[in-house]
Amino acid sequence: MDESELAGRIVRMPESGIREVFDEAATYDDVADLSIGEPDFTTPEPIVDRVDDRVRSGATHYTPTQGRPDLREALSAKLERENGISADPETEVIVTPGAMGALFEAIHSLVDSGDEVVIPEPYWPNYDGHVASAGGTVVPVETDPEDGFVPSPEDVADAITPETKLLVLNTPSNPTGAVIPPATLEEIAAVVDRAGVWCLVDETYESLVYDDAEHHSIASDPETFDRTLTVHSFSKAYAMTGWRVGYVSGPSHVIDSIRVLQEHTVSCVAEPAQEAALAALSEPELLDDVREIFDRRRSLLLEELEAVPGLSPVEPAGAFYVFAEITGTDRDSRSVVMQLLEDEQVAVVPGGVFGDSADSYVRLSYATDEETIREAVDRMRRVFESFS
Ligand code: PLP
Repeated sequence: MDESELAGRIVRMPESGIREVFDEAATYDDVADLSIGEPDFTTPEPIVDRVDDRVRSGATHYTPTQGRPDLREALSAKLERENGISADPETEVIVTPGAMGALFEAIHSLVDSGDEVVIPEPYWPNYDGHVASAGGTVVPVETDPEDGFVPSPEDVADAITPETKLLVLNTPSNPTGAVIPPATLEEIAAVVDRAGVWCLVDETYESLVYDDAEHHSIASDPETFDRTLTVHSFSKAYAMTGWRVGYVSGPSHVIDSIRVLQEHTVSCVAEPAQEAALAALSEPELLDDVREIFDRRRSLLLEELEAVPGLSPVEPAGAFYVFAEITGTDRDSRSVVMQLLEDEQVAVVPGGVFGDSADSYVRLSYATDEETIREAVDRMRRVFESFS
């Protein structure tokens, strides 16, 4: 089919480079997979049990576009308790189809043709698709591995122009695991405020922070709240990727715009998924169990990587990824990743997918069992040894 027949806003959306690795990996048997971005376990029993029960008693209907009122009440209470964000459940919170839906809808509510969107790099590639289809342009801001990939407020300020509409932050970060410290976030909030631009904060991995790293929500400051949309998700921390439920909090006029967009696209999040979210909110201790599992795996992966020559990990403070620099060869990340697949059937994601400045890195996910982590690193070691 002739591409010119398709709407420009869709043709402009780049496909995520992560897909290419999945597709290639699917052509091999016995892959040791460190490319995945979701927990390897299924949704905890108490959540599934409650949904089972509620679906049998009739939770099978359309709900208000914005989400069920009892869920919005529970989300507002969680935002206040865990994030220090005061959001009115009636007007300042909306339940969305995952963080993905939230980000798409938020970006389409704020970004117009010709607008610039500043994003610290390396960053999750789906932001590119959302900004492109809204007609905007991404302005990447490089971050430094020496600073653990935490963006510098000065560099963010320098990237802002009269065309800038929005700054997107992701903390903890996919792919680097960087957690932006509270003081840095406050400096960035001051930059955003001075420039009069909007801020969209993706806190999908909020509960996965380790050691002494602290997750902080900048919208906890009431003045910053007025120019900030904060995105959360049930996917990663509760092993609920398949339920597709997340939420956005922010000023009522933007939440209302998101509601209209959502009315015309998905109507509402599936009611069983909203029940699952309610159940998850009543089981906060699950978050500690999951965090402990990932923390153990993080230590294991970092320890195992010490045996791999020519690969230098940057210790992550959050999420479930290790970003590691390829120092053993000058080749770009994609060609190294394809060789890892071909020679040893180990799947990782090329850093180049997360921005040009990250093309000498690979992303390794530890959202998988310990045996797979050991096996995958052993296979990687054999390939990296062949470079020297
Ligand atoms: N934001 C980031 C940074 C992610 O890594 C992901 C998933 O990989 C998402 C958002 C989307 O999550 P959800 O499953 O809630 O749509």
